[in-house]
Amino acid sequence: MFDITKIVRPNILALQPYSSARDEFTGSAGIFLDANENPFGALNRYPDPLQKELKQRIAEIKSVSPENIFLGNGSDEAIDLCYRIFCEPGIDKALTFTPTYGMYQVSAAINNVTLVNLPLTCDFQVDFNRLSKVLEDDTVKLLFICSPNNPTGNTLKGVETIIKNFKGIVVVDEAYADFSGTSLVATLHNYPNLIVLQTLSKAWGLATVRIGMAFASTPITALFNKVKPPYNISMLNYTAALKALGNTEQYGQQVKLLVAERNKMAGALSRLPMVTKVYPSKANFLLVEVTNADAVYQKLAAQGIIIRNRNKVVANCLRISIGTPDENRILLNALQQITV
Ligand code: PMP
Repeated sequence: MFDITKIVRPNILALQPYSSARDEFTGSAGIFLDANENPFGALNRYPDPLQKELKQRIAEIKSVSPENIFLGNGSDEAIDLCYRIFCEPGIDKALTFTPTYGMYQVSAAINNVTLVNLPLTCDFQVDFNRLSKVLEDDTVKLLFICSPNNPTGNTLKGVETIIKNFKGIVVVDEAYADFSGTSLVATLHNYPNLIVLQTLSKAWGLATVRIGMAFASTPITALFNKVKPPYNISMLNYTAALKALGNTEQYGQQVKLLVAERNKMAGALSRLPMVTKVYPSKANFLLVEVTNADAVYQKLAAQGIIIRNRNKVVANCLRISIGTPDENRILLNALQQITV
């Protein structure tokens, strides 16, 4: 039996969370003199710390219960809270598969947690032989799997096998799952040690709004709620998110368009002489190997076209986000003119 109390940091288990008068009050109130707010104005009140209405809407879209949702100030906040809840600084470790999203490493370093980096195989899949050796280490409490993976773009195989066999917490980062059409959210009830991260920053077009979602069992979402700052989602962002989540038609159309553009761009890029490989992608970006990534990156930047130079993490690779059809065409034209 999975026992969450064996994974959680003792100080977090013992923590008395911050509480406000409005947490306890269940009636209908018209006069609020409890939170030292300014009584005048339109933005004077603190937002709902439990974000009930927004969670209800996300629950409908994702077919989960609102109690299984935590909302963070971007999924970057959820990543940071995972370290703070589960890893004792200077003692516990976390694990991830590289190359991957950089914030797992940055958050680990901020929290004084060692992140073990296990290289993906040459086709960017998990090396299960090496993984089983690393998992013998009992101090590894947290495991991050990004699928579709950033920056490689592919989905990872065998994720459920890892969740079943790992004694700690598995965080599956599905920031790009809207573009792959595959998700583990529907399997949550099978796995008490699973946290699925998603975000409104990508497919929903709300990067400015900074709302990330963690889907997990109720003991885990209760821990997130215990540790998070009380008012971590601004009311302005909350309102914008509710509005956008009301328009699932636009979301669906944009995902379809971006996937079609991604597939078109993969073909067009692979025909350029400087391109030696376009990796298959299930996300809204492409990892592209060229003859000289630094030179291509510099020459595009000089024309005001910014892509991501990933040469230092995957040799001679560039990561290119899928833009509007016009932006993609301008990028292709620019690349056609560049000689390296
Ligand atoms: N996870 C992955 C894999 C990402 O690529 C990103 C953003 N680049 C994030 C999480 C962070 O997303 P958010 O905007 O929700 O903080």
